[in-house]
Amino acid sequence: MRIIFLLCLIPSLILSQDVNSIFKEKGEIYFAFKYKNRNQLNKLSKIISLDHKIQKDSAFAYANKKEFSEFLNFNINYNIIDNNKTFNQQKSNNWDYYPSYSEYVNLMENFADSFPSICKLHRLGVLNSGREILIIQISNNVGIKENEPSFLYTSSMHGDELTGYVLMLRLIDDILHNYSTNNYVKNLVDNIDIWINPLANPDGTYAGGNNNVFSATRSNANNIDLNRNYPDPQDGLHPDGNSFQPETMIFMGLADTVNFNLASNLHTGSVVANYPWDTWSNTPADLNWWEHVCNEYSDTCQLNGNSNYFTDFNNGITNGFDWYEVDGGRQDYSNYFNHSREFTLELSNDKTPNPNSLPYYWNANISSLYNFIQQSLFGLRGIVTDSISGQPLKAFIEVLNHDIDSSQVFSTLPIGNYHRYLYQGNYQIKFSKNGYHSKTINTSILNNSTTTNDIQLVPINFVSINEIIKEKNIYQSIDILGKNKNSKNKKNQIIFKKSDINKIKKIIILE
Ligand SMILES: [Zn+2]
Repeated sequence: MRIIFLLCLIPSLILSQDVNSIFKEKGEIYFAFKYKNRNQLNKLSKIISLDHKIQKDSAFAYANKKEFSEFLNFNINYNIIDNNKTFNQQKSNNWDYYPSYSEYVNLMENFADSFPSICKLHRLGVLNSGREILIIQISNNVGIKENEPSFLYTSSMHGDELTGYVLMLRLIDDILHNYSTNNYVKNLVDNIDIWINPLANPDGTYAGGNNNVFSATRSNANNIDLNRNYPDPQDGLHPDGNSFQPETMIFMGLADTVNFNLASNLHTGSVVANYPWDTWSNTPADLNWWEHVCNEYSDTCQLNGNSNYFTDFNNGITNGFDWYEVDGGRQDYSNYFNHSREFTLELSNDKTPNPNSLPYYWNANISSLYNFIQQSLFGLRGIVTDSISGQPLKAFIEVLNHDIDSSQVFSTLPIGNYHRYLYQGNYQIKFSKNGYHSKTINTSILNNSTTTNDIQLVPINFVSINEIIKEKNIYQSIDILGKNKNSKNKKNQIIFKKSDINKIKKIIILE
């Protein structure tokens, strides 16, 4: 990377014409600047897209023309950095190569064609450029909803952060090829609904054309940072002042449809596991669980990578806001609005590392990536049903004296399954739904193991059989059953056999 000291002008003298010329080639620039203090940095984070490489008094950032014009009002000196890349890369089958756009699409189609019983390709949407957002779903009985947690990996929403792009393609390939021979992988596929999206921002990645990633941009085709474009718990629906981008709409639609229980979105530019929150200093309800899973990720990378890999920050993990404030990020959106558990993974200091090093990153991360998928099986889980009909319910599940900031979860239809990830300990869990008596249970959780509690909720309008037999329509039902012919006259003396009661229950529900 070459740092070009292009502009050391006094910023206030920059004319709009100069700003235009800066943005002549690309709609996005990358630049370094010195900041005064944390307060100023947080203010700037709401205007420009801070890069992950924050230093004590200097920072790096991306901006489009509008954002950069606002930045200039701060009268801060800056240097624009040329971040185009060139690699001597040979087309290869060894996952040490960034595929062209069409090679990417072919790979995704081939996965589904080669393993149709466990793998499905979903074409989530076509962008104006014609490029598509694609996602692979892997599960036994793929496409059929089962009592399984839903898991998501999504990479490269920043189009120039590409380590995860190739690692996710290789992970899909690895899962599919090992399913029939490796019991660990088979267990994951048989019990988890796994979704993997290697490339969340294809327009950014292929900003320089479909053949290579050399001129990849962080932002999408509209020069908007997709990781600032989500609804924010603190800053409202449009914290960046932009409308929802097509990519954002696609992922919000996916999240509403699938209800991911556990997820990670993959970036580069640093090496760290970053857990919520990004937008505010509030401590997440499940801080110790987050530290547990993030440490599991980073410890395993330390074991499998070179020395110093995943050792920055607090031994490879950090709270998001402690690092730097991000508003409109997808991590906070997923946790707050979807009641999902999503964290951000930064896999390499190089945004787009030389592809020769991609096999190294694979070896360093593969165990951690699998471990995190497996975490979706742990914690508290079960199915919530109506105690009378047995119908699955979408119930609200709250950990008493523990949940804050939307950390509660819901059971989801059509199965009624819920998955509440918790650090080991004893908890009181309350299950509630409109029209039902709520129910509170005590439960114990151990790390990396599963506690199952199926819950039946009793409908409020359900009355005991003694009360039911006073109801006129029930007498009619009883008559339909051909029993107790004169029931109306002997209403308090009727004695039902258990089998009759079950029949009556069914009729009540039908009515
Ligand atoms: Zn990023």
